[in-house]
Amino acid sequence: MTLSGIGYDVHRFATDRPLILGGVEIPHTHGLDGHSDADVLVHAIADAVLGAIGERDIGFHFPNTDESIRGISSLEILSKAAALVRAQGGRVLNIDATLIAEAPKIMPHVAAMRANIAAAIGLPVARIGVKATTNERMGFVGRSEGIAALAVASVELPEPA
Ligand code: MG
Repeated sequence: MTLSGIGYDVHRFATDRPLILGGVEIPHTHGLDGHSDADVLVHAIADAVLGAIGERDIGFHFPNTDESIRGISSLEILSKAAALVRAQGGRVLNIDATLIAEAPKIMPHVAAMRANIAAAIGLPVARIGVKATTNERMGFVGRSEGIAALAVASVELPEPA
């Protein structure tokens, strides 16, 4: 059977942090604050994958109180989410995601992001969608206080016995 999951995440901008989106370090005036590398795009995708298979969320599996995962690459979190799909005998079919940010420009980095996400899940790049939009200068994203991300995941799982 085919199941779908949704993910949403937001991180606020901070100085003296690198900006990591889709596993790509992007030169920018600010990075994102967070316990891990604060990769808001990959967090939304991991939550979508976990949601599709009924495995709660990344806060449950990777609590920000766990010092052993401070600063870890969020692609590692995504790989573990994909491993949970395989543990249920399933596979991820596709991912589609949207970054919402006023700046920096995302498009020059989309190919590298898709490659990183595809590798973390074990999927062809063609099954990974990464899109970007601004928030038309409205709200907290519009004021460049942070970056938001949305994602959906489709997953195939064996029929329940
Ligand atoms: Mg997050």
